Amino acid sequence: MVARAALQTWLTQGTRQLLSLFLAEPCPLCQRSTPAGLCPSCRRQVRQCQAQTPCDRSLPSLTVLSWGRYEGSLRQAIGGLKYSGHTGTARFLGAELGQTWLEHSPRPPASASAVAIVPIPLHPTRLQQRGFNQADLLAQEFCRLTRLPLYSHGLVRVQATQAQHSLSRQQRQQNLAHAFAVNPAHASVLGQSTVWLLDDIFTTGATAQSAAQTLRHRGITVAGICTVARAVAWSAQASASATRRHLDPRVDCR
Ligand SMILES: [Zn+2]
Repeated sequence: MVARAALQTWLTQGTRQLLSLFLAEPCPLCQRSTPAGLCPSCRRQVRQCQAQTPCDRSLPSLTVLSWGRYEGSLRQAIGGLKYSGHTGTARFLGAELGQTWLEHSPRPPASASAVAIVPIPLHPTRLQQRGFNQADLLAQEFCRLTRLPLYSHGLVRVQATQAQHSLSRQQRQQNLAHAFAVNPAHASVLGQSTVWLLDDIFTTGATAQSAAQTLRHRGITVAGICTVARAVAWSAQASASATRRHLDPRVDCR
């Protein structure tokens, strides 16, 4: 019996090792074989883009908590996730963002309702093309680490919008004016929560503002947005704005 149990253990371990050889995929950044999304060397590279001051409160109605700067390896990693389907990258980036939340998130007042996480949704057509919503994948890992409740379908995208990057600030706002709707199935529970949105990138904030406005129109409290990256140009602008308002842009949320 003992010999048989040992044989089974050996077979199980052997099968696992054999499977890991077949399941190993190339690292999306350096193409080396790795079983865990990004290889250790590229994880170090991506961490070079981590922001020293993740939290920014210079926007009047939305706190922005971002893990890193949208540049270099982080930009490449997010591109690989969204456009080449390297979904393993979301586990690493979602966990990093979750760790930043645990270290820097604002301490809510005692009377505040419980936090709920709502990822920015994709329009169903885009979701079908891509096969996944990167914000939702990031949020799944983020919520696994932080133990916050996730409402993947709390918001729905009801309008297919033009790609934002080619538009001016005003055009972006118009483009997104009626892009989102609150999912009636979750409206009640979200109404008793404080919502934090979650997305991959924060650029001008037009998407976040539109999503927050949609939730607020239904009486739902929105505190801010967590993103893996924020555009460097926006950071500079936010710093300048904070300086004008005599705030120290380097302080974190606490
Ligand atoms: Zn690599």
